[in-house]
Parts: sequence; C-alpha cells; structure tokens
Amino acid sequence: MKSYAKPLSNLISELSKLPGIGGKTAQRLAFHILSLSEVQAQGLADAIVSAKKNMKYCSVCGNLTDVDPCPICSDGARDKSVICVVESPRDVFAMERIREFNGTYHVLNGVISPMDGVGPEDINLRSLIVRLQNEDVKELILATNPNIEGEATAMYIARLVKPAGIKVTRIAHGIPVGGDLEYADEVTLSKALEGRREL
Ligand SMILES: [Zn+2]
Repeated sequence: MKSYAKPLSNLISELSKLPGIGGKTAQRLAFHILSLSEVQAQGLADAIVSAKKNMKYCSVCGNLTDVDPCPICSDGARDKSVICVVESPRDVFAMERIREFNGTYHVLNGVISPMDGVGPEDINLRSLIVRLQNEDVKELILATNPNIEGEATAMYIARLVKPAGIKVTRIAHGIPVGGDLEYADEVTLSKALEGRREL
C-alpha cells in the first residue's frame, strides 16, 4: 500500500495524538482540513496558537483564563467563603452551566494517583492551603470525580484541611461511580451539589 505524502501524514499523525481521535478520524479530519481554503486553514492554525499563547492558569484558583486573576476570582459578587475544589477547568465550565453555585473554585489540574506517580505535590494543592490561610473560608466543597483517584484526592484534602476547623463537604453520588463531572447532565450535577454531605 502506498503511504501518504509527508505533509499529509504529518498532519494525520499530529491529529491522532488528540484525545478521542483514532487513526480513521484523524485521516478524515486531515482531508477535511485540506479541503478548506487557505484563509480557513490559517484561521484554525491561528486559533490553536493564540489559545495556547494567551490562556494561562489563574494564580489564585488555577482555572484557565486569559486574564489573571480569572473573572470568577475577581468577581465581587461571588461568595469567597465557599470554595468548590475540582479536577480540571472543564469541571468549572460544567459547574457554571448549572448556574446554582455562587462561590469560587479551586482547580487541582490533576488528581493524586500513586499508580501514575502523581503525588499531592504534583497537583495545584499548595495554593489552596495558602488561600485557606489568607481568606475567610467557611466551606470547602470537594467535587473531584467519583472514581478511585478522585475519592482518594478528596480524602487526602479533607484530612489535610479539617484540623483547621473548616467545614469540608463532598458532593453526593448523583454522578455515577467512575463517571466524570464534566459529562454529568445539569440536573444530576445540581442534585449532587445540593446533596453534599459533611466529611
Ligand atoms: Zn481564579
């Protein structure tokens, strides 16, 4: 079988590195990109480079943002005494979609996973401790995903924080075990938040 020309096979190879993109999908996307006008293709390339260059992690909460602190951290109307701890910026978008949470977030950008060699010092945890020391936080809602790593991370944070006298809660299991916060529908997520229990 004749292989693709180098520029095309490079494009397919880069696309197939993206999550959820198998070889077949990568080929389809590559051919689609080649069917675009030069302006459209440049627009796609520019969007990738610009997002990568201009998005950064909020120095307060760790969320992805183009301004630092992020709009949620700098919003005076948000309740700074409640912090919802999530694994990724995608979870912040999921929570914001339900429009019921008016506190702030802390994005771990990972979970503790000894199997993968990820320890507490490898996730965005230190800045959470700093926030708890400097801000008047009344409740910490642990909204990591309900799988082994998410539960272990929640337990670790609960043990770390409880001695300071801060109320620590865990979202309810409306979300199926092993499920992902970002894929939960709005009703499920809303119920999980509502039914949180104190640890
Ligand atoms: Zn922030």
